[in-house]
Amino acid sequence: MGRKRAENSEPRRRGRPRKVTPAPVLTVVATPVAEGTKPSASDRKLAEFYGKYPHVVPGSVREPTDADLKALSHCHGKVCTVRCQDCGAERTINLQDAFQSQRCPKCKLTAIKARRQERRAAREAKRAAS
Ligand SMILES: [Zn+2]
Repeated sequence: MGRKRAENSEPRRRGRPRKVTPAPVLTVVATPVAEGTKPSASDRKLAEFYGKYPHVVPGSVREPTDADLKALSHCHGKVCTVRCQDCGAERTINLQDAFQSQRCPKCKLTAIKARRQERRAAREAKRAAS
């Protein structure tokens, strides 16, 4: 007397193989907004600003404090904190300077020197070739 099939073995399925649905991709929302409230124009502008300048520390845009005013040579309007893309040092700058302040003064100088040297090397290579 032979057993027909083991009790715990999976029954054979007929027809098309089962469809495998991929896991849903979770999208990270940059600024969570409470239900029912629309982001204001200034909120949207700020989110755009942070998206445009990744070196600006998120949430650092503010009215200047006394310490900020002391650190800046000139100040008009809001300030923000930026992180140097090379060494990671943080410093406070005027908001309108964000587009040109990806590096701290030290790294900026290093980058300028490196670029200059690169150009000179390229120029000399060109001269040697001709
Ligand atoms: Zn730096």
